[in-house]
Amino acid sequence: MSALRCVNCGNTAEPYPPKSRCPKCGGLYEYKVNLDNLKSTEFSGNFTFWRYRNLLPETKNVATMHEGGTPLYKAKRLANQMNLAELYLKDETRNPTNSFRDRGAALVVSNVLDLGYATVTCGSNGNMGASLAAYCAKYGISCHLIIPRIVDMGKLAQILVYDAAIEEHGETVDESITRAEKLAQETGWYQATPELNPLVIEAQKTIAFEIAEQYGVPNWLIVSMGSGGTLYSVWKGFVELEKIGKINSLPRIVGVQAEGCSPIVNEFHGVKKENIKPMTHAIGILFAEPVHKNLAIRALKESRGLAVSISDQEIFIAEQQVAKLEGLFAEPASSGAIAALKRLRAKGDIGKDESVVCLITGSGLKATDVLQALSKKRKSAIVGAEFSTKEKLLRGLEAREGYGYELWKALGKTMTRPAVYQHLNEMCSKGLLSSHMKKGKKYFTITERGKRILKAIDEVKILL
Ligand SMILES: [Zn+2]
Repeated sequence: MSALRCVNCGNTAEPYPPKSRCPKCGGLYEYKVNLDNLKSTEFSGNFTFWRYRNLLPETKNVATMHEGGTPLYKAKRLANQMNLAELYLKDETRNPTNSFRDRGAALVVSNVLDLGYATVTCGSNGNMGASLAAYCAKYGISCHLIIPRIVDMGKLAQILVYDAAIEEHGETVDESITRAEKLAQETGWYQATPELNPLVIEAQKTIAFEIAEQYGVPNWLIVSMGSGGTLYSVWKGFVELEKIGKINSLPRIVGVQAEGCSPIVNEFHGVKKENIKPMTHAIGILFAEPVHKNLAIRALKESRGLAVSISDQEIFIAEQQVAKLEGLFAEPASSGAIAALKRLRAKGDIGKDESVVCLITGSGLKATDVLQALSKKRKSAIVGAEFSTKEKLLRGLEAREGYGYELWKALGKTMTRPAVYQHLNEMCSKGLLSSHMKKGKKYFTITERGKRILKAIDEVKILL
């Protein structure tokens, strides 16, 4: 049986429901899986997340959308360019909602089903919110997400389409997490925020298990850091494999942050924290106060690793390079791993003959910056006009209900009336508007979903 154990004082607690902090000292809780009887076990079953069930905290239910079992590509062209013998990309974009967070969502939602909660809450700036929204949709659980003002457009689109309830709180995800913590205490909802639910760390260990089975132990593993939890997870995974005798060496870990927001890298190098507003376009790793900072630093030190911060410009170039040379569209946060590798190769910190695995956490389609830069060239007048017509109609109807002719007039008669009706009907079929008859006229009113879309458009515009 697994237990929760405080990383500071060793105090233990019942495993479920998951708790984040030790009541004695305020330290983080983590799961301690009993590894004693696992020395001779072989992993069995298909090459998916659930293959490693023995090394995870126990669940009765299995919530799955076929997460994990992601490919590890040999990136020959990229390696050649960096004059490196062996480079592999662990492609987590191949998960059900296109990010590594599906592993966490699978384990968390399994636990939610075990415990019988009807509603979960989560503070997230994107990937975890999207994953959780999808898994909750599949298993009929209500999902209440707290998202910050700054969030990637594609992730927001996923959250909207999976129909999670969205509450906006705070500038960056740190504030959303605080809000989610309070909300779960007030409502008794299940806490699914990755920084507050130690099951997520456990779920992410499986990335290390898979790499070990697919390749073995690389000399270096490069991981981007937001809260630092992902880096700690993969390190913990390798350490556990060594404990049960599956591997006999450990990789050196490189932790990467963006220059505009690098609290873990700064602390690792003993640099005093600057009091500037943290910012990076790699929104997935925009954490002002990383919850798992100490654990990440411990993992970096134990692994004799390195911590690197890189500029947004380097991230942007790396993102396009991975796509052009390897056909893989990675989100900015994980392109940071490639940018860091380039830097470390150039400095000679990573040798020509060493083997390297970079963790590609999520798809570039979820992020905003590259899409924007690329689409500027291609944005046709028609697409732009359609977007703005629908938006104008929604804005008009947000103020009060209206009928077709009136709405057409309000648009300044810039298009034909049938075209306006088509927009209205499309929005009705998408659930953004509803209609009813009054005095022989068809009136349109905005729905809650329509209001949410307008709010999402406002979010997106902040990033433009
Ligand atoms: Zn404690």
